[in-house]
Amino acid sequence: MKASATLLVTVSAAVFGFSSPALAAAPQDELSATISRDLPGLMTIYRDLHAHPELSTQELRSAAILAKAARDAGFTVTEKVGGTGVVAVLKNGEGPTVLIRADMDALPVVEQTGLPFASKQRGTSTAGVESGVMHACGHDTHMTAWIETARLMAAHKSEWAGTLVMIGQPAEETGEGALAMLKDGLYTRFPKPDFTLAFHDSADLPAGQVGAAVGWALANVDSVDMDVKGIGGHGAYPQTTKDPIVLASSIVMKLQTLASRETNPLDPVVVTVGSFHAGAKHNVISDDAKLQLTVRSYSDETRERLLDGIRRIARGEAIASGLPDNLMPVITVKEPHTRATWNSPEFTQTAVADLKGKMGDANVIVTPSVMGGEDFGEFRRADENHIQSVIFWVGGVDPAKLAAAKSGGAPLPSLHSPFWAPVADKVISSGSEAITLTAMRLMPRT
Ligand SMILES: [Zn+2]
Ligand SMILES: [Zn+2]
Repeated sequence: MKASATLLVTVSAAVFGFSSPALAAAPQDELSATISRDLPGLMTIYRDLHAHPELSTQELRSAAILAKAARDAGFTVTEKVGGTGVVAVLKNGEGPTVLIRADMDALPVVEQTGLPFASKQRGTSTAGVESGVMHACGHDTHMTAWIETARLMAAHKSEWAGTLVMIGQPAEETGEGALAMLKDGLYTRFPKPDFTLAFHDSADLPAGQVGAAVGWALANVDSVDMDVKGIGGHGAYPQTTKDPIVLASSIVMKLQTLASRETNPLDPVVVTVGSFHAGAKHNVISDDAKLQLTVRSYSDETRERLLDGIRRIARGEAIASGLPDNLMPVITVKEPHTRATWNSPEFTQTAVADLKGKMGDANVIVTPSVMGGEDFGEFRRADENHIQSVIFWVGGVDPAKLAAAKSGGAPLPSLHSPFWAPVADKVISSGSEAITLTAMRLMPRT
């Protein structure tokens, strides 16, 4: 695509008369008109990215596409930052530094959308698991909008001043990528941002609608492994055993009290036991049971309290079952965990108000916080007293289907579903418009 260099310049209706209403429109309408014109080319990029998804840390092809697009737009591009990461810098005079991030990885999911450009790719994760690969989280829409944003910002250099740092981030799904880029010198080898921006497609909002939570946007995510030990034996002689299935069952039930009895009802938490494996045969009492938990919270204090509570409950129940000290449950909290994402409140409120004015009141909303996780928050946490940050949601659901689902119709696929097929043109156009408008506002030319 080629964006007009006069895109954001207000054009007087009087000059063109009433026969050219599009030209007489406000500047923001011209921006969306340009994005609409660019959309066929963007959809070609999107369909290509969608058909060629890559697993976390393996995003070589995607990274090369982003790097080339940014280079072609005039950015100085560095590749292989924190693995496959891309850093594209456009210095444009005195002013703030704004970082814009798109994540690039896909998921080990066998696509079932039936789309003509559905992924048929297979891959092997770094853990050695072979599976289908799919952009089931919509990171292909993020990358496509990133390309459009890079082009728009470059084409309108005369209308802003500052430094733009656009990054393609690897391995969001495994929670490693943001930290890997920071560790590889994102804030020392390249300009450190004053503001960080991103968006994520949403399976809960109507297509094209932009949303942002004020304050906590996404949660701390901890994966916890619990090995519950027992003393095995014959199923007919339980008195000679310490049954780990009964013990693990009571641990699972008692864990429910962490949320229901130990946490302030106004402080959202989740403790989910997603996996429970034990035993091999009807009449054999196993000697261990393995549980896998996901634990969600917002504040660091609440997170620590939940993890301490899990250890206490597991140990307490094991003691109550009569197990000796050397057979206490073994609990492993996986690191790195994903830390909660904070949308700087005043900054977010201003950005939402500004976008409302430009994209229309109904098209931009404040959304509730969610218990999902994202590693985007790491880019703010690396200097949290200075950097202001927001991650927007951009709706990807056909409004008619959303309305039908809300009134009892067929449930809709969520992110990570093999059926998740966002209304990509709307996500890409609203996403690139919201990010471009916000970046332009942060870097006014004075
Ligand atoms: Zn995801
Ligand atoms: Zn995602």
